[in-house]
Amino acid sequence: MSLFAHVEMAPGDPILGLTEQYLADPRPNKVNLGVGIYVDEAGRVPLLECVREVEQALARDPRPRGYLPIDGLPAYDRATQKLLFGADSPLLAAGRVATAQTIGGSGALRVGADLLRQILGPGAKVAISSPSWGNHHVVFRTAGFELLEYRYYDPASKGVDHAGLLEDLGRLQPGTVVLLHACCHNPTGVDLDATQWHQVVALLKERHLLPFVDIAYQGFDRGTERDALAIRLLGEAGVDAFVVANSYSKSFSLYGERVGALSFVGADREEAARLRSRIKATIRANYSSPAAHGALLVAGVLESDELRARWEGELGQMRGRIHAMRAALVDKLAARGAPQYGFFTRQAGMFSYSGLSRAQVERLREEYAIYALSTGRICVAALNEANIDYVAGAVAAVSK
Ligand code: PMP
Repeated sequence: MSLFAHVEMAPGDPILGLTEQYLADPRPNKVNLGVGIYVDEAGRVPLLECVREVEQALARDPRPRGYLPIDGLPAYDRATQKLLFGADSPLLAAGRVATAQTIGGSGALRVGADLLRQILGPGAKVAISSPSWGNHHVVFRTAGFELLEYRYYDPASKGVDHAGLLEDLGRLQPGTVVLLHACCHNPTGVDLDATQWHQVVALLKERHLLPFVDIAYQGFDRGTERDALAIRLLGEAGVDAFVVANSYSKSFSLYGERVGALSFVGADREEAARLRSRIKATIRANYSSPAAHGALLVAGVLESDELRARWEGELGQMRGRIHAMRAALVDKLAARGAPQYGFFTRQAGMFSYSGLSRAQVERLREEYAIYALSTGRICVAALNEANIDYVAGAVAAVSK
């Protein structure tokens, strides 16, 4: 008998299962609102012009394929730090930030979780928003954390349960890791406003909690600077230890290149140097060193003033299309007798908790070939001029 004979099937991914069902659906007017990526007006993953330009320059001047350093391409790490913490950040000037390129934002979360588990020991706890991106739980559980939840989404107001959030964070033991979405919360689309962020940051500091900011959609709500508010406020408030995991998958439309980074902020330069050595040791034990191509593309764009400006423009177009689709959906729903969906324009990023029930999601799929997650999460970027009237009509019909 095979040594693998007792191995059980892992549970299937609900999102991938939905995509398979969508692909197999023969109805011509089908729409997949379940996707987790940004697609353009034509339903395609865009290839940004700024990226294409760097890629063509690389192709004209091919280079040998040596290994990158364990913590990645130095120019990429430097550019990432400036984007996250601000070009004139006192934290960067003081040498308090240790940044390493990682295999996507997921790699940053995993390396960060592994290292924090080593630092915090067997009693390590992490508090995750309710709800959150499913992989947050998987990554921290697998790294050996005890998982806790804090209240976040309020279904009644379709906004943040801010009182509940503050109450839950206020009850956590000092040293608990608090996982925060910097902007464009996945899956709800519901973000904290500036006043709420100030309060949360003050509480995290006062209670000696360990903020871990996940920023996977920088530039998708209001622009790269404004979307980094949470990180900037943690720095300004004098929080002496926090962590940031960032991803360029969406903001550069480079999903398969796996470009992300992990940054640990320490109390001073010397602490950051020790953290850097520990981040590198953790990467070494996981996958030795990251991949070069995507990092060359991102660094090539961010290091050139001209290409960087072009990137901000292209990112702005993606952001603008998302905002336009949200506004159009609200108008079209209202025109079809469903004015209760005004909250779509108060949500941020590609995702929205629509408030549609499991039964309504099922009706959309069965009667209209419109696919959404059973939680009611929809991807607004999947809407376009060609399908939005059909979707608005169907949503209004199942909402009666
Ligand atoms: N964090 C959040 C909240 C995300 O939604 C995602 C991507 N879906 C990631 C992290 C990971 O990004 P990547 O694809 O770069 O691993």
